[in-house]
Amino acid sequence: MDFKKAIRVIPDFPQEGVRFKDITTLLKDGQAYKDMVDEMAEYARSLKIDVIAGPEARGFVIGAPLAYALGVGFAPVRKSGKLPGEVVSLEYELEYGKDQLAMHKDAIQPGQRVLIADDLLATGGTIETTVNLVRQLGGEIAGAAFLIELTYLKGREKISDVDVFSLVKY
Ligand code: 5GP
Repeated sequence: MDFKKAIRVIPDFPQEGVRFKDITTLLKDGQAYKDMVDEMAEYARSLKIDVIAGPEARGFVIGAPLAYALGVGFAPVRKSGKLPGEVVSLEYELEYGKDQLAMHKDAIQPGQRVLIADDLLATGGTIETTVNLVRQLGGEIAGAAFLIELTYLKGREKISDVDVFSLVKY
């Protein structure tokens, strides 16, 4: 499957100069969506995963069907203020300003093997923060799977001790 063909590139979104990778065109194509999940599941099967952690919102769209395919649980990683139970949260830098991601304290049991799933790896800030949250909860990072990797932003270097898998590279 040529996933790149199914992804639409929108120039100057959300701001001038950015070529946004719009995955909604892939998601509405049932065959492409299924193939994407199947290929990620194939990668993940060798890692002996206990649970998948996915950052909102597109990490849910990828992480949840992947968890179903593997028969493991799914732990949402959310912007702060969204999760109702006790949380751990971490601040991270955005291009302009800061943001916070949070997980429920009981989302991961110590020693569980966690796969992080998201749609796109750019600068690596989101994934680095997710890795740190999972580790704070005692989880072991088994890998990180993305549909898209923007290799020129070198996001992998932020998580150099994590096994990174991506289906499409720009
Ligand atoms: P990073 O933290 O690696 O710089 O950015 C990755 C996060 O931003 C991901 O959660 C992803 O959903 C979002 N993101 C950044 N650029 C794009 C893009 O071009 N397309 C999509 N679909 N998501 C993006």
